[in-house]
Amino acid sequence: MKTAIIGFPRIGENRELKFATEKYFRNELTIDELEDFSKELRKKHWQLIKNSGVEGIPSNDFSFYDTTLDTACLLNVIPKELTELSLSESEKYFALARGYQGEKGDIKARPMKKWFNTNYHYIVPKFEKDTTISVTGDKIFKEYQEAKNLGIDTRPVIVGPFTLLQLSEFAPEVDRGNIVAELTTAYKEIIQRLSDLGAEWLQIDEPSLVKDVTAAELQEFQAIYQELLADAKIKVLLQTYFGDIRDAYETVIKLPFAGIGLDFIEGRKTVELLKQGFPQDKVLFAGVVNGKNIWRNNYQQTVDVLTQINQENLVLTTSCSLLHVPFTTENEDFSNEIKQHFAFAKEKLTELVDLADILAGAEEALKTNQKLFADNRFIENKVVQEKIKALAAEDYVRKPDFEERKELQKDAFDFPILPTTTIGSFPQTREVKLTRAKYKRHEISEEVYDQFIAQQINEWLKWQEEIGLDVLVHGEFERNDMVEYFGQNLSGYLFSKNGWVQSYGTRGVKPPIIWGDVAREKPITVKWSSYAQNQTEKIVKGMLTGPVTILNWSFPREDISLKDSTLQIALAIQEEVLDLEKNGVRVIQIDEAALREKLPLRKTDWYSEYLDWSIPAFRLVHSKVQATTQIHTHMCYSEFTDIIPAIDQMDADVISFEASRSNLAILDELKRQHFKTAVGPGVYDIHSPRIPAVDEIKQTIGKILAKVPLEKVWINPDCGLKTRGIPETTASLTNMTEAVKQIREEL
Ligand code: GLN
Ligand code: ZN
Repeated sequence: MKTAIIGFPRIGENRELKFATEKYFRNELTIDELEDFSKELRKKHWQLIKNSGVEGIPSNDFSFYDTTLDTACLLNVIPKELTELSLSESEKYFALARGYQGEKGDIKARPMKKWFNTNYHYIVPKFEKDTTISVTGDKIFKEYQEAKNLGIDTRPVIVGPFTLLQLSEFAPEVDRGNIVAELTTAYKEIIQRLSDLGAEWLQIDEPSLVKDVTAAELQEFQAIYQELLADAKIKVLLQTYFGDIRDAYETVIKLPFAGIGLDFIEGRKTVELLKQGFPQDKVLFAGVVNGKNIWRNNYQQTVDVLTQINQENLVLTTSCSLLHVPFTTENEDFSNEIKQHFAFAKEKLTELVDLADILAGAEEALKTNQKLFADNRFIENKVVQEKIKALAAEDYVRKPDFEERKELQKDAFDFPILPTTTIGSFPQTREVKLTRAKYKRHEISEEVYDQFIAQQINEWLKWQEEIGLDVLVHGEFERNDMVEYFGQNLSGYLFSKNGWVQSYGTRGVKPPIIWGDVAREKPITVKWSSYAQNQTEKIVKGMLTGPVTILNWSFPREDISLKDSTLQIALAIQEEVLDLEKNGVRVIQIDEAALREKLPLRKTDWYSEYLDWSIPAFRLVHSKVQATTQIHTHMCYSEFTDIIPAIDQMDADVISFEASRSNLAILDELKRQHFKTAVGPGVYDIHSPRIPAVDEIKQTIGKILAKVPLEKVWINPDCGLKTRGIPETTASLTNMTEAVKQIREEL
């Protein structure tokens, strides 16, 4: 084996899996039909990889929702409240992911968290007192066998026990030692059964090793694997990604793994570690092709690195699973000039094969690649570059300070206590999406399209007034996506047609590509935000995406720093903020949903390599507004407990964040750290179609008020509502405003 990949995009070339799974959700497909469909898809992917010439082909990297959830289900790690319901296996699986509300019961979804430093999200497993770990699932075995029946010998992939323990939640009374012992036994059984089926290799993913690993954790890791690998009749590949394993390297190389997978792209110290020595009896899986970005690999550079480390037992692989890049460039409309610079998942397979050939002496591919990197491909904008250079310390500071603004805003707005609002978007119904698509394809005129959007805005404004929300939104019907919509109005951006990447479950994102220096071409949101504000006496929030999120949800350039790219975007959004203000928009929300995304995985790097520039970049966006313009921000999909001071330094007036799935755990920290910004912790989960009852919301608000002073609290859902249907949205929000009404009366 000379080449391998860690995982492949499971959603399909045209997001087939998403559409099929959603049909199943709508009861338009049975579970058996969905299974059959996915079987065909897996076959297609395995054959595609095989035909590319890549030899190390993974299996069980497929998932209906999430591979961490799959692993929990494989191991019977299922909360008791769920096992008590009489649901089928697949109903249980999807109930963990999405919640269940029906004749068989009412249960919330498990929390979902960001998968390391990516925009992929995993479902958090939970170990309870009653959890009995045992290998009750069979997906990993079935998929291995399925490929084998097709004549393809794959390498099954599984999330490793160490990472699983790191990512899971433990109920208070759980004995961790027990869990570790049971897990080890279960993984041993998995190894045994795979080897019985004839598998040669097993890939165990342990990305948690790239974080700061303490001595105690390392000991746990070592103990688990000593036991696991003792007389294992299969070659175990320990696969790491998203960084280097500097804390664990020495331990890892001494354990009897057959292969070790290291990340050469994000692992800044990987080469240095290897220079300390790498055992000759192991295979090095060198992750040299970037699994996260979409640029072509620079073959010469890669060859130079590989020459440096000079390893005999070498397999070339990707830096992480290809799950994080789109499927293929083949269906894109870019000119060849542009396209030749991109490599999506399918193209990366060819890169691996090319690189292996080059190492074996082939020259052709190397020459073509060298030519590609010879000229400067990025579009420069001197004006922007000068503006960045001219930025001074005061450009990052809003005046007057928070407390003074608070008083001025109290007078200016006179909101009731517990002001209610939403996060921005309302359901993107079929009709909304279809109309936008028709407009994009020039099938309807701008006039007809504008009328449609205006009508949507009017209807929803009226409805928001009726249920008594305090700060309204226009609903974001004109937007496909919170980043692409902005990118389309900024120079320096390129858009793929089909470059979807899985975000969570059946949801995908289509990150735009930063192709040059970024600048605002024209007003972006002013038209619809000011239109909406002109329709009502109530305040309508303007809605923007912040610079850090725009950057983090784009495929970034590799020739300038992330900081410089972000500052360019920040200046563009600053222009937009000031333009909104000028046009009568008095409350402006600047979403930073993905602020945490590129937070270094090692805590020691947080402030020196990320927050030191990303937080100021956010401040740059709003530093020039008037004291009585209220700036909101919004965050979701991740934990914030550990970066609370940084969030306060964003210096927004109000922040709303996702909280309901994590049981409001963050509130204690806000209190402890004297968080100054007013807060709207989400009072219900919007990722699930479940409708929270009035009393349930009242209870949640009660919990919030027990921790946060009344005058600081805003009431809102967890996030935008674009992925929800209209019935559950209106029912949930009606319950939310009703809950607040009752609380106001009771106070
Ligand atoms: N304003 C956006 C919306 O409501 C925020 C989305 C997000 O935070 N992911 O859709
Ligand atoms: Zn959100």
